[in-house]
Amino acid sequence: MTEQQPWQWDEQTWRRHVGRVRAGRSLRPATWPGGARVAVALSFDSDHETIPLRDGETRPGKLSQGEYGSRVGAPRVLRLLERYRIPASFFMPAVSALLHPGEVRDYVAAGHEVAMHGWIHERNMTLGPADERELALRAADTLEKLAGARPVGIRTPSWDFSDHTLAITRELGLRYDSSLMADDEPYELLADGEPTGIVEIPVEWIRDDAPYLMMERYGSLRPYTPPRDVAGIWRDEYDAAREDGGLFQLTMHPHIIGHRSRIAALTELLDHIAGHDDVWYATHAQIADYVLEQS
Ligand SMILES: [Zn+2]
Repeated sequence: MTEQQPWQWDEQTWRRHVGRVRAGRSLRPATWPGGARVAVALSFDSDHETIPLRDGETRPGKLSQGEYGSRVGAPRVLRLLERYRIPASFFMPAVSALLHPGEVRDYVAAGHEVAMHGWIHERNMTLGPADERELALRAADTLEKLAGARPVGIRTPSWDFSDHTLAITRELGLRYDSSLMADDEPYELLADGEPTGIVEIPVEWIRDDAPYLMMERYGSLRPYTPPRDVAGIWRDEYDAAREDGGLFQLTMHPHIIGHRSRIAALTELLDHIAGHDDVWYATHAQIADYVLEQS
């Protein structure tokens, strides 16, 4: 039997696809801890060398760009967070953590969260369920060993989310995911219409440094927004989140945002946020625990 084209699907079929992983009840709390008006959750995906490795790209030139993320970017990000006393979440592929165990220790020592981000930044949607599961289990064990604590959250590499990802997340006993985009505010994930108790801390490409600032020498990809303009977009996102009494969440990468001119732009944004004294800075795990507790 040839596979049906989407336009040939009956209603049951397209409803089943849409319903597999869905946003359930909103978990936006009435108030944030300490009466804060807005919650700020900064995250950094410490991919480093794993993006070229994932693609089988082993040239030293490409790998050195990732190496910069660990050697220069991550320490610079850590200094910035220390200066503003902001706890953050670092999502790290296990291979990146194995390449840079000292960096993992530095994150933990500074009070930041280390959470899952695949084995080698694999593309979940190209994997069979058994491979995706095995890599996720191995990644969780590896991070636990290196960080000294079992991870409680996951961000899938490249935000790829397969039909099997949520089941694996549940099997691992994780408390939250941060890979989906159905809301501005945290919500509960539904699996085939059933509540899972897993918190989604939604992301968006708008609040990610990669789409604005990436560059590919032999492709047509070029940075298309100056760093301070990117910070301006994020400032508008923050101001509106504050207006809503909601969550402002950002995704960045040490090898991208960690450059001098970009840290300058991020600093400008953090200065703006620091101008308000009713902000709750929290890790993704703290956000997930708080919103669930309040619901
Ligand atoms: Zn990543």
